[in-house]
Amino acid sequence: MTTPPVPTVDEIRLLPKVVLHDHLDGGLRPQTILELAEPIGHQLPANDAESLGRWFVDAADSGSLVKYLETFDHTIAVMQTAESLERVAREAVIDLAADGVVYAEQRWAPEQHLRGGLSLQEAVEAVGRGLAQGEQTVRDAGGEIIARQLVTAMRHADRSQEIAALTLANKGKHGVVGFDIAGAEKGFLPSLHSAAFDMLNKGLVPATVHAGEADGVASIEDALTAGHAVRLGHGARIVEDIQGTEEAMRKRGKADLSELVVGPVAAWVRDRRIALELCPSSNVQTATAVSVREHPISLLKNLGFAVTVNTDNRLMSGTSMTREMHLLATEADWILDDFLAVTLTAAWNAFIGFDERQELVEKLVLPRATVVREERKSL
Ligand SMILES: [Zn+2]
Repeated sequence: MTTPPVPTVDEIRLLPKVVLHDHLDGGLRPQTILELAEPIGHQLPANDAESLGRWFVDAADSGSLVKYLETFDHTIAVMQTAESLERVAREAVIDLAADGVVYAEQRWAPEQHLRGGLSLQEAVEAVGRGLAQGEQTVRDAGGEIIARQLVTAMRHADRSQEIAALTLANKGKHGVVGFDIAGAEKGFLPSLHSAAFDMLNKGLVPATVHAGEADGVASIEDALTAGHAVRLGHGARIVEDIQGTEEAMRKRGKADLSELVVGPVAAWVRDRRIALELCPSSNVQTATAVSVREHPISLLKNLGFAVTVNTDNRLMSGTSMTREMHLLATEADWILDDFLAVTLTAAWNAFIGFDERQELVEKLVLPRATVVREERKSL
């Protein structure tokens, strides 16, 4: 058997991609930040787009989640009006489509965008308009992308019940498809927000929860039990509930399940096929993983977990879906079929309805993947 050639950047860019974990306030174009900051007098650490882009990556590279989160002070500062939220959402959709993304969920926390006088509802509507404009712009140019929003509550704040009610009230409107909590994970377990999660669960709104990034297995377990999480934001540290993984991680994730002892939380996540929204570069920046090569994503994929590849914050990580996948190809030996597999897993775990997911897979993912495969064969 011959080893398939390493997928090229161009091939990966052409592949249809699905991103479930991409923060709206972490994906701005540096030029847009400059243009939005000027009229409101917000001081930025750099005055041209290139240096500003570099500053975000360097600041986020510090190896601490808390430092990483500080970079958001600047992006959030320029997203305090309906116009700016609309623009940022529109541009995000256009940029993702240019990267070959056919379905994207954009998450953001409305409670952080009220300083300019917007209400929570007005903020959600502004983002909904921006996403729809982005979809339309892409369609006008002959492309296709579906963009939805996840309403996020900040876990270290105390507005989660209000945000859960906001999500419930907007379910199926303005592109709202689900709920998330974000912010400092350690010390802020999902169960602190049980009332919010229970409200959403009773209202049949799906939740994903940031867990298993800056904290371990207990945080993941709490996201599943108290947070009713049907997906996990990151979830990378689920490997801490599997004994004997060190050697397998060094071997780029090549391991046999029979050599490992799977704990109860990892077994639940694997058996229930709870999607893991893994974000390799982001995890390396915050020191959740040593490198993309040794990131648990490869092991988890090989062990049959429902793995998806995500960007987290394109601006802070200087990344894109194509870049994340290319890193996995070059550093961790992923092949084209692996990318198609994680894309299908992501598509089937999107928070849109089953019919819409079916259409997404049949009309956007599979036909485009076939084109890339055929082109490869004809080389
Ligand atoms: Zn995140």
